[in-house]
Amino acid sequence: MKKRIAVLGATGSIGRSALDVIRADKEHFEPVLFSANSNADALFELATEFSSAKIAFSGQLGTDRLEFFGVDRRRVYSGYNGLLAAIDDAGAELTLNGISGAAGLRPSLAALEAGSALALANKESMVMAGRLVLETAAIRSLPVIPVDSEHSAVFNLLRFRDKNALKEILLTASGGPFRMWNADRLKKARPEDALAHPTWNMGAKITIDSASLANKGLEVIEAARLFSVEADRIKVVVHPQSIVHSMVRMADGAVYAQLSWPDMRLPIHEALHYPDMARSAWGVLDFEGLNLTFEKPDFERFPMLGMAYHALRAGERYTIAYNAANEYAVDAFLGGKIGFTDISVLCGRVLNKEWGGEASDLQAIMDTDRLARESAAALVKGLERQV
Ligand code: NDP
Ligand code: MG
Repeated sequence: MKKRIAVLGATGSIGRSALDVIRADKEHFEPVLFSANSNADALFELATEFSSAKIAFSGQLGTDRLEFFGVDRRRVYSGYNGLLAAIDDAGAELTLNGISGAAGLRPSLAALEAGSALALANKESMVMAGRLVLETAAIRSLPVIPVDSEHSAVFNLLRFRDKNALKEILLTASGGPFRMWNADRLKKARPEDALAHPTWNMGAKITIDSASLANKGLEVIEAARLFSVEADRIKVVVHPQSIVHSMVRMADGAVYAQLSWPDMRLPIHEALHYPDMARSAWGVLDFEGLNLTFEKPDFERFPMLGMAYHALRAGERYTIAYNAANEYAVDAFLGGKIGFTDISVLCGRVLNKEWGGEASDLQAIMDTDRLARESAAALVKGLERQV
């Protein structure tokens, strides 16, 4: 029997990698749903290639486009609510969520509510609503399988070990394109500089986050939620080659690491096959000539990292505000409205407000997200004038 897979965000970097994995393993997987937000052409090409899959286009789609592509309308869902309905109807056994940003949260919950296991690339789901996502999964005895390479590494390292003996998680970070830039140069960094990641090829938002270390900040929060580990037991280690994808230090002092070439197809392959371990050709490492180095992260030049620890310690609503403010700030930076170092200035100002403690349900989570964006929008005006 083939495993029925839904791929959300099928037109993005994670989605395209997932399609490589699915095409290489057609005897194991049957895609039942693909989603996209703006790239209708790529989505409809998938609908043609996989003729039994449903497709969900969360942007608005003109009927002329539907006719142009000649796809049976009964297979097509449109708008964000259409995406949620498609997830409900898809009958997937496993949903890979590769949607970017806060827009990925409801689809994660919808997948679990529909009885599907969740392979989670959308780290925002965990940062905004880790507790709610894990509770929704636990009620239905469904697994949440991390796809983010660091968390996939930790997840797999811990699968066959006593989790009570875990001392700390060591998350590796490439350090991004600005690892060697001084503070003055950082102020002048342009979007095209930040988009030139040295080791990973990813979507624009996460690439900017890698340059500011906000991505690692989000991942610290993601790890705390996924593995129920407090902030003090999660350390970040800069490892520019991106070969060691993370490590766990156990109570006896031994450190275990996961190593492979930086290729998201390996963690996606592992998540799609979970709980089985299947052969793959992705990321296989050849040690000849490898030179692995490790450094401390610089919290001064990259304040987004420290801010994530602060938000994690301060409570759920702070992590929602951190994510929302950063998402807003990255958009403003990409749109040329603010400078690179203003991203952390803006987020710092948003986090300086009083956000409260736990966000008890989805409504409270979405309200906090909206308020933090409104706060960032008001504060960005003061920064715009200085660019
Ligand atoms: P991309 O920007 O490349 O792709 C995003 C995908 O989400 C696209 O299919 C896009 O559709 C869709 N999308 C965007 N906005 C919306 C929306 N409002 N509603 C529904 N769908 C939407 O992102 P990545 O693939 O790089 O990242 C996806 C997620 O995975 C992020 O959370 C990221 O942090 C995480 N991740 C990514 C890694 C990577 O290597 N890329 C590594 C680890 C984690 P369309 O193309 O049609 O606009
Ligand atoms: Mg990662």
